[in-house]
Amino acid sequence: MWNKFKYAMQRFAINHNCGDTLASCVLLAGALIMLIGSIAEIQWFFLIGWVFFVYYLFRFLSRNIPKRREENEKFCNFFIRLKKRWTDKEHRYFKCPQCRQTVRVPRGKGTIKIRCPKCGNQFEKKS
Ligand SMILES: [Zn+2]
Repeated sequence: MWNKFKYAMQRFAINHNCGDTLASCVLLAGALIMLIGSIAEIQWFFLIGWVFFVYYLFRFLSRNIPKRREENEKFCNFFIRLKKRWTDKEHRYFKCPQCRQTVRVPRGKGTIKIRCPKCGNQFEKKS
């Protein structure tokens, strides 16, 4: 009986996205926004909070697991990249004005010409 229940719970967890990083962040953000809304007495914060909860519910009930996994992976990668940039003190990051490709250059070299590796566009930046 207990094993059957455990098995059912495991199956449920596998078939739904209740525990991925994006889900927990969405839920946390929604709760935080509602909390701020209730402290500051801002009505439309609740609305935004609800949007987060509905999105969480949508992801939770979604049967398209590969798509939800992909979303989660993108979300995680975004934060990994952000952290890398924050901790990287030896480089500066610029976006190519033409194709939006991120270009990494060594810091402290004065004004330099940067050539975009993707589209070949050249632009000057202070490193
Ligand atoms: Zn470019």
